[in-house]
Amino acid sequence: MLKMTHRLTTELRRLAFEHHDHCFSCNYKFKEADTSHLGYSQNGEPLYLCDGCSKQLKETAVRYYFKPRPYEIPDPSSKLWRYMDFTKYVALLSSGGLYFASADCFEDTFEGAKGFRRNKSRWDEYYLKFFREAIKSPPEGHECKFSDSEIDEQAHKLLRDMGAVGESRRKQTFISCWHESEYESEAMWRLYSSFLANAVAIRTSCQSLYTALGRNPSIDIGRIKYLDMERSYAGVNDSFWRKRRSFEHEREVRAIFSDFRCQESGKITLCDLNVLIEDVFVSPLAPSWFVALVNDINDKYSIKAKVSPSELVEEPFF
Ligand SMILES: [Zn+2]
Repeated sequence: MLKMTHRLTTELRRLAFEHHDHCFSCNYKFKEADTSHLGYSQNGEPLYLCDGCSKQLKETAVRYYFKPRPYEIPDPSSKLWRYMDFTKYVALLSSGGLYFASADCFEDTFEGAKGFRRNKSRWDEYYLKFFREAIKSPPEGHECKFSDSEIDEQAHKLLRDMGAVGESRRKQTFISCWHESEYESEAMWRLYSSFLANAVAIRTSCQSLYTALGRNPSIDIGRIKYLDMERSYAGVNDSFWRKRRSFEHEREVRAIFSDFRCQESGKITLCDLNVLIEDVFVSPLAPSWFVALVNDINDKYSIKAKVSPSELVEEPFF
């Protein structure tokens, strides 16, 4: 077996990211705990392969135990919306990038939560049992030399460490939220603007969001799964992809990245705004001069997207 070189170029990381579930050569669908091989061919081309195809590698960068993504990816053409106040829109254009807020700054205090605090004892019990078993059964060739009380102490320490990591991940996880829908939403206008008459919505697609962010393999884009937290918990690695059922109306798709060094409450990630912004809509309560103003601002920042009035102001006939 080739020694791992840990040489991960952006092209290789992007290839593995985009083909995550399948072998790049034979299209085999990976199962949990399969090995995926990342490396390079004889000609230096990046490859992401299953065990069977790994002979094609001239250099192995890394091998991973395959883990399915903790989120679903919408269809590339799925429409995504972001409703905002006009000032936020101007901030987007003038900064030239999308603002990603750190998870601990969200109004929803359950961002990154595993479940309800009052159900924590069940969670603790499960993981204490899991850690005790893991300590008792070390890998082959090793022997467990701990007494029962030492095992218990170690298990409790691991549980505390896991809780501390969960807390700190909230500061290190940065999120940009979108509403997935084919249509404009009356409710979202109200929910995401503080002054409805001057609100703006931008529409993009899942593919355009990914492309505008530079096809960055460090930014995951996926759907939130809504969870009945009374009966279940979010997993250790998927808590930023789970929300309570009471948020289901948001139909959220989010882009997420981690930054373990950033101390800020948010980060602007530069993106190609003309790829990101496919359409701009102004609020159903906006006066006609407001459409002209948004058009004028777009011109100043060389944004090519068309500005349209809200579809909600169409006149009915009876
Ligand atoms: Zn294969």
